[in-house]
Amino acid sequence: MLGRADLWVKGRAYRKDTEQLAHYRGGFAALADQLKEYIELKGGQVITDAPIKELIANAGQVVGVRSGDITFHADAVIATPALAIIANLVEPHVSADYTQRLRRIRMSDEDLLEYTIPYLQEMFPAFHRNWILKYHIWKAHYSQPIVERRYSRLIPKKETPFQGLYIATMAQIYPEDRGTNYAVREGRLIGKRLIANISKKTISESLCERHDV
Ligand SMILES: Cc1cc2nc3c(=O)[nH]c(=O)nc-3n(C[C@H](O)[C@H](O)[C@H](O)COP(=O)(O)OP(=O)(O)OC[C@H]3O[C@@H](n4cnc5c(N)ncnc54)[C@H](O)[C@@H]3O)c2cc1C
Repeated sequence: MLGRADLWVKGRAYRKDTEQLAHYRGGFAALADQLKEYIELKGGQVITDAPIKELIANAGQVVGVRSGDITFHADAVIATPALAIIANLVEPHVSADYTQRLRRIRMSDEDLLEYTIPYLQEMFPAFHRNWILKYHIWKAHYSQPIVERRYSRLIPKKETPFQGLYIATMAQIYPEDRGTNYAVREGRLIGKRLIANISKKTISESLCERHDV
């Protein structure tokens, strides 16, 4: 059996108005390998199997990340896992209110059942909740951001209150649904924004130095 995720890329990357399906030759593993190759060609480094356990701060700004005993220094950090994972990492550096908002987007089993019933009724108009004898929710952690009513108001900004830390996740692409093409799009956007912000900062720092501020 072939994994569906390995097979197709939703195609708004190709045409603006309609969604098309495309097969990535070699599957998404080939995409990751080719990205790694390109990053290394450009002088970058890709490190895998290194879960980040801690963000390092200096004067209210992120200056690196720590994985096990290894520290990586950085001018800026982009976090891409699920918002709940990011909440754990930023917790020591931001207000409780901010982390609470990152963790907010979740659903209980009962909420999920209630959420699905109207859609089942739309598909099968005769369907009645009395038909449900038992229900079981299958879960894979952080596989899908859950879009609830007024979701657009809950979406966190890419810039965070922790200076130098940016967030680019599938929970921020609403009204689109998760997809590798959106991950690529968001990666490009956040990369450009980060470079622009770092250049602005460097220019203003060098102006300050010149004027001895
Ligand atoms: C079951 C399923 C099927 C899918 N099928 C398709 C499909 O067919 N076509 C399609 O286009 N899209 C599909 N998607 C969606 C697609 O997988 C996502 O949209 C895409 O992977 C998002 O990319 P991302 O880089 O934003 O996040 P991710 O791919 O989730 O990358 C985040 C990475 O962060 C890592 N991470 C987490 N915590 C830490 C930490 N503390 N330190 C370091 N790293 C960490 C994770 O291990 C992960 O590798 C599917 C998703 C699922 C769940």
